[in-house]
Amino acid sequence: MSGIDDRADARQRCHDDRNLCVSVCPIGIDIREGPNFACINCGLCIDACDDVTTALARPCGLIDYESWTNIERGRRGEDRVSRLVRPKTMVLTGACLALAAGMAVMFANRTSGAISVQHDRSPVAVVLSDGSVRNAYTIKLLNKSATPHAFDLKAEGADAAMAIIGNEAGKPVIVPADGSEAIRVTLTMVRPQNTDVRFVTRDVAGKDVLSAFDRFLFNNAALQRMIARDFRCFFVMLV
Ligand code: SF4
Repeated sequence: MSGIDDRADARQRCHDDRNLCVSVCPIGIDIREGPNFACINCGLCIDACDDVTTALARPCGLIDYESWTNIERGRRGEDRVSRLVRPKTMVLTGACLALAAGMAVMFANRTSGAISVQHDRSPVAVVLSDGSVRNAYTIKLLNKSATPHAFDLKAEGADAAMAIIGNEAGKPVIVPADGSEAIRVTLTMVRPQNTDVRFVTRDVAGKDVLSAFDRFLFNNAALQRMIARDFRCFFVMLV
């Protein structure tokens, strides 16, 4: 807060008969009257005042940022008190250090990519002519780095054959820099069972291993449970 420690004294000590501090104020405040709630703390009046007092070889700081307590002290004619170490500064310093430490840990552990998976809803499962069951998924690979990256992909946890549509050769999926790639993946089980599936992708050039979980489903009870779970999730988001 900009303020003057003592109004009468400030008026007496003010050496500027051109009212520069008022002229430069974008709000039009006369800060010599005391703190004003409309002040935006731009500091222009402080600079103008210091320019004048410097030119006149007088002490600067007639207008300055000051705590309300010290402004009140000044009005009572008491000396201003500045304590650097006090509960407020200690708590704020601790909070800043904790925030900085958290950001450093997150920065050190950041990955260059991300993966998400979405199970096809309609149909959830397809029974093929040979009796095997196929589930389809849309997997989104995200490249957060400034260079293109190649990701290989595999499915764990289910005894199923995986195919990437449009990439039958099983080559790594190239994701452009700062971009994403949505790929269609199918899992086919000869002896189908409802089970968890973990899609794991590895950055071929780096050490990042990313994973996302979903389910392989084939019977009605499991489908209904999944729909009920989605409905609960939707309801929770609504409330
Ligand atoms: S700090 Fe800016 S807004 Fe506040 S009184 Fe000074 S010039 Fe005006």
